[in-house]
This record gives sequence, structure tokens and C-alpha cells, in this order.
Amino acid sequence: MSLTTRFAPSPTGELHLGHAFSALFAAERARRAQGRFLLRIEDIDATRSRPAFIAGIERDLAWLGLQWERPVRRQSEHLEDYAAALARLEAMGLIYPCFCSRGDIAREIARSGEAPQGPDGPRYPGSCRALSAAEANERKAAGAAFALRLDMAKATAVAGPLVWTDEAAGTIRAEPELFGDVVLARKDAPSSYHLAVSVDDALQGVGLVTRGIDLFAATHVHRLLQALLDLPVPHWHHHRLLTSPSGRRLAKRDKATSLGALRAAGLTAADVRSMVGL
Ligand code: GLU
Repeated sequence: MSLTTRFAPSPTGELHLGHAFSALFAAERARRAQGRFLLRIEDIDATRSRPAFIAGIERDLAWLGLQWERPVRRQSEHLEDYAAALARLEAMGLIYPCFCSRGDIAREIARSGEAPQGPDGPRYPGSCRALSAAEANERKAAGAAFALRLDMAKATAVAGPLVWTDEAAGTIRAEPELFGDVVLARKDAPSSYHLAVSVDDALQGVGLVTRGIDLFAATHVHRLLQALLDLPVPHWHHHRLLTSPSGRRLAKRDKATSLGALRAAGLTAADVRSMVGL
């Protein structure tokens, strides 16, 4: 079976050298296996995504000499796929509406005097988990905005122990409980990153998920969602992150390493490849 890899940027800024490394890494793994390389636009967050950045991503990748299969999947065009996954988890009794604001959560954490940290910050203290269906429905009917959270204790009990394979790090025991009750649909976005990425990698037949090591912990949650939703389980390769000469992680706001700026300065795709070591 041929290997499918993907590069899945969020169109919230210009691509920089770190993205070039990530995209070239994924494309190279597909090329070596005579497989498929996909581009996926992760634009589920309508408040931060911009069409101009999508055009910029395609221009930059083409400049790097990459080719990808079309049509390009844009998450904002497939909301029904995420809704179907949420409906399935709901039917399993694993998700609940959460009406908390950031302020409510911070106050609850301060009140309880304990704030276990998860990979994404303090874990949600569970305030809305105990709401009765009647109470939740009443608040929904009154127009209150809500997110949908996974009941992590129930979900891990249903899934049982899980492992996943990272090409670089080996066999990893999944520890999604580190995240607590993760958000699967946000108040302002119909799906969270965790849900959309898990659904899409499965739908697109991605067999090797390559991405930066900053997303290593997120894979615990993705592995759990795959188990709950009966999705195929890929392998992962979390790669190193490029840093600036001062050792700082590259970020979208660093204009100097944006691919557009490097192109304007007269660099070629071959220069970029050698700069990122690929
Ligand atoms: N869209 C994510 C980002 O831009 C990457 C998701 C992934 O590769 O799993 O950071």
C-alpha cells in the first residue's frame, strides 16, 4: 500500500523556514515511498484564517518545487464530517456542553486551590461536567454559547489502554488524560484542532503524520479519538523545530524568515533546502 503524507498549515500567517522544513520533510517521506503528498488547509478557525494566506501558502510551496494532489482539502468546507464525529461521540455519552468562559474557568481554578497543568495549560476543572441534561438544555434554549468537551475519564475507560508509534521516539503509551476534558468543538469554531485533524487524517488515508515536536503531546488525544471513532491508526514522525540563531523557535510573526521575504531577497528553493538541511 502506498504511503500518504501531508502538510497541514493553518492559514493564519505567512509560512517561514520552519514550515518549509516541515513541508519538505513530509513530501520527501512520500517521495521515498513513491507515495502521495497532500496539502490540507486547516482553516477551521474562521476568526484567524485569511484567504490571502491560503494563496500565499500555495505560492510558497510551489516555489519550493513541491507538488501536491488536488483538490486541496479545506477544513471549512467539510464541517459536516466533524459534526458526524461529534454526533457519534455524543451518542456514546462521551461529550458534554460547557458554558464556561475563560474567566469562569480561572475563578473555579483559583477557588479550588489546585490547578493541575496539562500540555495546553491548566486542566479544565470540570465545572459543567455535572450539569443535568435539563439544565444544559435550558441554557442552550436561552441562547448561551457553549463548547463541547470530551469526558476524559469516561472516554479513556471506554477505549482502554492505547499505544502509538513515533518513528523517532518509538512506541509511546497514550496519556490523553494529561489534557483533562479537552474541547472538541469551540464556542466560536465548529470543531477543535484535535477532532478535525483526527477525522481528516483518516478520511484522507494519511499513513504517516509528520509534524513538529511541539505537537507530540497532542497525539495522545488523537490516538484516543481514533480508538473511540474506529479510525485507522497511522504512524507519526514528530520532527525537530527550527530555531533562530539565538535559539528561539521560529514564529509566524518573525517576518525575516518568511519564505516570501527570502524569495524577495533573491534566495532560491535550493538555498532554502540547504538552509533547513533537506
Ligand atoms: N495546522 C497545524 C499547525 O499549523 C498543524 C497540524 C498538524 O500537522 O497536525 O500548526
